[in-house]
Amino acid sequence: METDVMEELLLVEAEIQEVQDQIKLLLDRQEDLYKKQSELKALLKECEEPAAATIDSTGVIADWSGTFEWDTLADDTRFNIFGISCYRANQREIINALMSGRDVLVIMASGGGKSLCYQLPAILRDGITLIVSPLLSLIQDQVMGLMALGIPAYMLTSTTSKDDEKFIYKALEKGDADLKMLYVTPEKISKSKRFMSKLEKCHNAGRLSLISIDEAHCCSQWGHDFRPDYKNLGILKIQFPHVPLVALTATATYKVQTDLVEMLHIPKCVKFISTVNRPNLFYKVHEKSSVGKVVIDQIAEYIRSSYRNSESGIVYCFSRKECEQVAKELREHGISADYYHADMDVVAREKVHLRWSNSKLQVIVGTVAFGMGINKPDVRFVIHHSLSKSMETYYQESGRAGRDGLPSECILYYKPSDVPRQSSMVFYENSGLQNLYDIIRYCQSRRSCRRSAIFRHFGEPLQDCNGMCDNCAYGTELTEIDVTGHAKALVHLLRDMHEHEQRATMLQLVDKLKVKMKELGASSKPTPDLKKEQLEQLVIQLLLDRVLKEEFQHTAYATNAYVTIGPLWKQAFLGKRIVKLEICMAQKQNHNRNNRVSKRGRSSLLEFKLDELRKEISSSEGGIFPHAVLSTQQIALLSTKKPTSIPELEKLIGKLKAKKYGRRIAEVIQNYVEVEQPNCEATNADEGNENEGTKRQRKNKFPVVIESSGDEKD
Ligand SMILES: [Zn+2]
Repeated sequence: METDVMEELLLVEAEIQEVQDQIKLLLDRQEDLYKKQSELKALLKECEEPAAATIDSTGVIADWSGTFEWDTLADDTRFNIFGISCYRANQREIINALMSGRDVLVIMASGGGKSLCYQLPAILRDGITLIVSPLLSLIQDQVMGLMALGIPAYMLTSTTSKDDEKFIYKALEKGDADLKMLYVTPEKISKSKRFMSKLEKCHNAGRLSLISIDEAHCCSQWGHDFRPDYKNLGILKIQFPHVPLVALTATATYKVQTDLVEMLHIPKCVKFISTVNRPNLFYKVHEKSSVGKVVIDQIAEYIRSSYRNSESGIVYCFSRKECEQVAKELREHGISADYYHADMDVVAREKVHLRWSNSKLQVIVGTVAFGMGINKPDVRFVIHHSLSKSMETYYQESGRAGRDGLPSECILYYKPSDVPRQSSMVFYENSGLQNLYDIIRYCQSRRSCRRSAIFRHFGEPLQDCNGMCDNCAYGTELTEIDVTGHAKALVHLLRDMHEHEQRATMLQLVDKLKVKMKELGASSKPTPDLKKEQLEQLVIQLLLDRVLKEEFQHTAYATNAYVTIGPLWKQAFLGKRIVKLEICMAQKQNHNRNNRVSKRGRSSLLEFKLDELRKEISSSEGGIFPHAVLSTQQIALLSTKKPTSIPELEKLIGKLKAKKYGRRIAEVIQNYVEVEQPNCEATNADEGNENEGTKRQRKNKFPVVIESSGDEKD
């Protein structure tokens, strides 16, 4: 009797387990479908909207690219103060919407020129513009840049002196001082009653002209970088309902966009969504060796051979310890590198950042903590020593390359055994695992375009890659092998272990499988023999396919990730699910890495001299960055046109920069034209090999500089 009941109980429990698995599967599917649904809706909406016109919630179609009364003044300010020769996509429309008093949501990829969108209206509109920005370093950089242009910009932060604070409060309250733009961190809004009361006085006197919220994705819990203080920014629109508000971010999925509009109380905002495409970035996934030293050797060799003129780059690592280690090893390879992470003393950290920003340090090795403060336009490569936690973070981190529009490379070193340490960090986050699996799919794929994975992730129509990713550019010769037998063996093994209440991490599982294969003997074990890395690849693939799943357990020291059977295990268990593994045979021939002599031939002697000049001016002007003096694109323009008089210079870089630096620039060019040019042209004719980004773009006759605006700020 008792055994009968026991048996039935076991059966019922097994069935409950099965039902629960099915429910979980359906819920996951539902979540996926919701995501897809919102992406498709966004896509549909985009298709319905004509390019430059936007339909607002009242159904009115406004043509923001039309003619407006402030056109002349705006053009004059853009060129003669900011030194920017033409607008980039959507900039003019955004400025017009703000000038018309509308709330605006801007989604614009890094390097698209977000800051001009509010800095220009801030100058044109009467009164003070409030700018909320998350990071001190970002704020400092912007304020210094604006001050160098003679625009009265200030910041109110923990580092502000008492005198400046007094000045700012007086300007807000009485309006008798010269203050155009005020930068604050979100903490000021949520924590300082004094500040809010002064701001209210400023508003009541009609002097608060515009509110700008930078890195607005920090408001949303669905975003990749949620900050609690950002949640309170909704108060701004409630307190100051008639002041136009602009929220800007580089990326936001449809869900994050909806969230932002709601949290900031801007339901009637005009949305400007630019493409996420960064045509100048070359995306590549590099197979990562399981031997740490080999990885560093490869990275060091790549940097040394591709970037001989010490062009700037970033290497992202998983942990603080790894950062320090990688930086040390790169230095041992003769590369000027230093680390940056959250555990460091603030002063030491800022020092590293500054050396790198001033191009005195070539490579910064950082954790994800090295992020939003970066404003350097001429980063030529971003290498991921380890996996990012999602497509969105990868897009953000890799997107710090090439903000100046010039060819740059984004390389991710991937090995399957890096997955568990990342998954054990993210599994408790909102759809953390789902997001991680998306980037793993990106890494595992050896056929489809890397760029189209990015478009798909952000729900954007596909665009041509122009051979600017490894899979499109050279691809790999792949063979598909049938590993149905291996998958079956894996599931059987896990079932056995489950019955004995055992657990295994991915690495343990692969080892156990190898042992089991040996036991099975030649006659019954699945063929062919797979290497350890290939078995790991198989486990990952089965995780993505839900045949397996990850489970997590906390210990006193860490969270361990275990692999167990997933909702779709049964078919594999019965050997009914055909499982194929793509094995890489060789890289296709049209790509010859070893021959890369790599000398970047792009910069001419004159460009080099102008680069020296901007560095000299930047250090003598106390703190502004070289790119704030002259952008890389302005240098390219100057060395093509070779202007030697102030009026000529004014036409190229605007009146303000011509007035401030014109004499010295003209001197350098004059000297070059008269003395150096006859002697030196010949030695610079040899272009040598370049990095892949440059090579690809030239080969495809693709414009290297997309829009030659000088605005590299973001
Ligand atoms: Zn591609």
